[in-house]
Amino acid sequence: MFNLVLFGPPGSGKGTQSEKLVEKYRVVHLSTGNLLRAELAAKTPLGLEASSFIDKGQLVPDEVVIGMVDSYFDQHRDARGFLFDGFPRTVAQAKALDKLLGLKKTGISAVLALEVNEEELIKRLRNRGKTSGRSDDTDEKVIRKRFSVYNLETSPVAEYYKKVKKFYAIKGEGTVEEIFERLCETIDKKLKKEQE
Ligand code: ADP
Repeated sequence: MFNLVLFGPPGSGKGTQSEKLVEKYRVVHLSTGNLLRAELAAKTPLGLEASSFIDKGQLVPDEVVIGMVDSYFDQHRDARGFLFDGFPRTVAQAKALDKLLGLKKTGISAVLALEVNEEELIKRLRNRGKTSGRSDDTDEKVIRKRFSVYNLETSPVAEYYKKVKKFYAIKGEGTVEEIFERLCETIDKKLKKEQE
């Protein structure tokens, strides 16, 4: 299996790039944000519980997210790999992911981190809020909260993967195509190495 993590702050372009990456590399897209929003749209108990956190810009509790990822794995047993988007978002989630992948005798090949300056991020989120229908993208207070949660709880995940030399910083500014090319270059190098 070939498993990738697309990492980066809210608005860094993970969703946009994920769509292109799953098409090119034929891996299964696992976006915890999308899964949570689908639960919410279907008004499941999990979705309703999650919405109280999402609306405030807080993280959904680890055990909820990890359980959801676990059952997604069960539904995609024949996947040749996964692209994780918006997950793991805490060190506890990263450890749980290692464990789940370990059971499948596989692991993370690379963590690709999109780097974008904060001013640009806020601009992108506000623009997305105009059309996405996502309430967490329209409220300035919620946007700010998501950044502070990212800095406090999610950025340590980068250190976790740096320690095991799986972390690759990618410039997330420029056109969608330019950023995609940068991502592919890093992934292709990694793939080549794994095949050697
Ligand atoms: P963004 O990256 O733009 O913040 P996402 O769609 O990834 O958007 O996430 C939206 C919200 O869903 C987050 O603010 C958080 O409340 C919740 N969420 C998504 N993924 C996770 C996760 N792995 N752990 C905890 N909460 C999550």
